[in-house]
Formats: sequence, C-alpha cells, structure tokens
Amino acid sequence: MKKTLALSLLISVLLCGCAVNAPVEREIFAMDTVMMLRVWGNESDAAAAVAEINRLDALLSVTNENSEIFALNRDGEAELSMETYDLLVKAVAVSRRTEGAFDPTVYPLVEAWGFTHDAQAVPAQDEINEALALVGYEQLENHLDVTCLSIDGMLDFGGIAKGYTARKVVDLLQERGVDTAFLNLGGNVQTLGSKPDGEAWTVGIADPENPSQAIGCLRFTGSLALVTSGGYQRYFEENGVRYHHILDPKTGYPAQSGLASVTVLAKDGALADGLSTALFVMGMEEASALWRASDDFEVVFITQDGIIFATEGAASLLTDCEFTVIKR
Ligand code: ADP
Ligand code: MG
Repeated sequence: MKKTLALSLLISVLLCGCAVNAPVEREIFAMDTVMMLRVWGNESDAAAAVAEINRLDALLSVTNENSEIFALNRDGEAELSMETYDLLVKAVAVSRRTEGAFDPTVYPLVEAWGFTHDAQAVPAQDEINEALALVGYEQLENHLDVTCLSIDGMLDFGGIAKGYTARKVVDLLQERGVDTAFLNLGGNVQTLGSKPDGEAWTVGIADPENPSQAIGCLRFTGSLALVTSGGYQRYFEENGVRYHHILDPKTGYPAQSGLASVTVLAKDGALADGLSTALFVMGMEEASALWRASDDFEVVFITQDGIIFATEGAASLLTDCEFTVIKR
C-alpha cells in the first residue's frame, strides 16, 4: 500500500515535471501551407502567436482580396503600412545581394504559370515574354522612400513572407515573456531560445526524392531560422516533364540550377527565406561565392544527384548523413 502510494506520488511528480516542460502545441493552415507551433508558455501565448500569423497572412497574401498586396496588384498602386514597407525593404535588399535571383516582382510570371490557382500549365513563350517585361525589382528602388507605391508589375512575397512571419512571431512571444518556442511554418523553421531539457534542437532536412523522410539532421541550440526551398515542394507535370514553383526571373522558367533543395540557416527569418529561394535559382557555384563574401548565413545544398554539400558553419551542425564541406 505504502509502496503504491509512493509509486503514484512519484508518477505524479514526474507528470508534473513533464507538464512544466511541455509546450502548448498548435497546428494551423495559413499562407497556403500547414504550420506547426510549439510554445513553452500558456494557452494565451499560443493563441497570440496564431493571431499574429493570421494577421500577417491577411496583410501580405497575394490572394486575400483585403490585403495591401492584393490592392497594389489590382490597382497598380497602394498605400503601404509601415510593416509591409519594412518587408519590402528587406526583400529588395535580398534582391540586390543576389542580383535579382530573388525578385519580389516575380508575380506576373507566377500567375502565367498558374501557381496561385489550380490551372497550372506551361505558358506560351509570348505569355512568358509579356510577364518578363513586368518583372524587375529595380522598379521598386525608386519607391523605397515613400509608403505609397506604384508599380507596373505585381508584387509577391511568397518567397519571403513565411520567414518574416516566423521572426515576427518569436519577437512577439519574447515580448510576452516566452523564452522557448519552435515554429515550423511550412518548411520555415524558427526556434526561440533553447529547449528546457537542455537538449539540442534537431531539425531534419527533407530528402528531395522522398520528402517525408529526412536525408540528414541539423542539431543546434539557441534561436535560429532554418529555411528550405526545393523543387519538390510545389510542382506540376506536363508531357512527363516536371515544372516547379521557383522561377528564374531572368528566363521566366522554373530554375534549372542542378539543385534539388537549398537549406539556409540565419539569425533573421526573412533573410533565410529570401536567400533560400535565391540560392536555389543561382545554383551551388554562384551561391557559394555569395556565402564566401558574407558572414550572416550558412547553407546545405542537395544536388539533383542527391549529393549533399554544406558550408563550414552548417557542416558543424549537420549529422546523420555524408556530405562535402564547402570551405571559405
Ligand atoms: P515555399 O514558399 O514553397 O516554401 P520559397 O520560399 O522558395 O518556397 O518561395 C517560393 C514562392 O516564392 C513561389 O511560390 C512564388 O510565389 C515566389 N517565387 C518564385 N520564384 C521566385 C523568385 N525567383 N524570387 C522571389 N519569389 C519567387
Ligand atoms: Mg524562400
């Protein structure tokens, strides 16, 4: 009897211990993807995080008829809130750094290929040329000191919004006194702080050939954004050819750089997201050159042949796979 009592006390202490360290979990659908949140806080912290995601989705979405971006794309001009403007500045900075491999004015092309609706098909070359004429981040440069933006083309923050949002959410959680969180916004991972049990965060990198399986793992502690762009994430097939959703703003076609996926690690979520899209377009050689000239991100590349390459900083975190290190 005594033994049973002691045992049940022990179990309840263990359960209590777990409860203190157990995160509040949420799974939601936003920004056209499934998102998972783990917040080491209370229910209202998790609710605030979800509300923040929905707020930014409504502000930045190309398909939400009430968003600023929708109004801009429909009317050719719109007054931007400081927040949208802030993201625009970040997006243009990534465009400059990548010489237009990332381009937030890519939307006419995205539409031509049908990636925002369900009628995806290879467009006629004329249609691609017409869309290409409207693409070019340079047209935004002259408008960066005013919050009323007018453009000939159209904006799409699809390649950067999730990373930006992830960062905004952890900032908000931190303001609420939350020290630890793990977010996976459709392949955009963002951590806040370190796990209460002291273990490293472990994030799998999807095998492009079999995306439900991990090809390797990244283990790290502390706050970090970790974003993967891959041709396997959204695509359609026509006449046996696969066309994916990451477009080369120079050719108007899905980027053919020999890469199957790019995972970028950076402190800033928007930077990691924008760069993941850009480096996928640039290919490994050009992307490695940019990495050598920078000090604010690390990369894991997977080639179309399934070979893994990691920049020095990423290599020190990569486990459970064979890879080649890219040196400075
Ligand atoms: P995902 O959003 O699927 O996680 P990405 O971050 O790579 O992947 O973003 C891809 C999205 O970004 C596309 O669906 C499209 O809306 C937009 N996009 C496609 N090509 C480019 C590009 N070269 N520059 C900027 N945005 C792009
Ligand atoms: Mg991206």
